[in-house]
Amino acid sequence: MKITFLGTGTSHGVPSIDCMRQQYQRCPHQVCLKAEHDPRYRRMRSSILLELQQYEVLIDTSQDFREQMLRAHVTRLDAVLYTHGHADHIFGLPDTRSYTHRDEPPLPVYASPETMHTLRSSFGYVFDPPTFVGGGIPILAPHVVSTRFTLAGHDIYPIHVEHGPLQGCLGYRIDNTAYIPDVHTIPAAALDMLQGLDLLIINCLRERPHSSHLSLSESLHYAELLAPQLALFTHMTHDIDYALEEPNLPTNVHFAYDGLQLTV
Ligand SMILES: [Zn+2]
Ligand SMILES: [Zn+2]
Ligand SMILES: [Zn+2]
Repeated sequence: MKITFLGTGTSHGVPSIDCMRQQYQRCPHQVCLKAEHDPRYRRMRSSILLELQQYEVLIDTSQDFREQMLRAHVTRLDAVLYTHGHADHIFGLPDTRSYTHRDEPPLPVYASPETMHTLRSSFGYVFDPPTFVGGGIPILAPHVVSTRFTLAGHDIYPIHVEHGPLQGCLGYRIDNTAYIPDVHTIPAAALDMLQGLDLLIINCLRERPHSSHLSLSESLHYAELLAPQLALFTHMTHDIDYALEEPNLPTNVHFAYDGLQLTV
């Protein structure tokens, strides 16, 4: 399986508009300013692409979807998995229309019941097309999931995690890889499903604690507890300066970055 990190940033993205407006005066470690010269500091909203043989699976359609698809030259999509219904993970959905055609089968999209409800209410013109006149509409086949399902011969396990007050937030385990971009607490049942991983991709928001995300020390705690062969941190704010922090990480833990590709 080949994995491409399309985006590794939190909901504001890095650099953030806020820091630019404040002339970077409150930007920790000046990360948003450094992003002008070092592409590893430029973080689009979080999303990854999985290549399962010839089958292209996208996890989340971020607000940066269009730019991400163009940059990674993604010429086809076979399925979309949604982790949850927050804006930074779903608002690229309208542009999936470029990957669908009325003469082809609809693009399957998978989400928890709560996330599917959010998708349907956010994009009524897609899921209830008689209300919409003109323009191109993505042709999607919604699938509500909460337990194991199969894509391209691979078992996909939804991992139910806590992300603040939001209900229905998922990570996914595919083979020995798990992707959990937004999480504050991993319940015991989910921890059981995350044993024996080769690769754990997990939220690492910032240094200070946050009510619905993991801070750096909490992400390190889960990396140690689950002991994957490799842990990659994602969904980062401008707090995370990889050049300053990376030397302090355990040898099996690294910060992901936009454009990073690996095969597992
Ligand atoms: Zn998010
Ligand atoms: Zn900043
Ligand atoms: Zn979220």
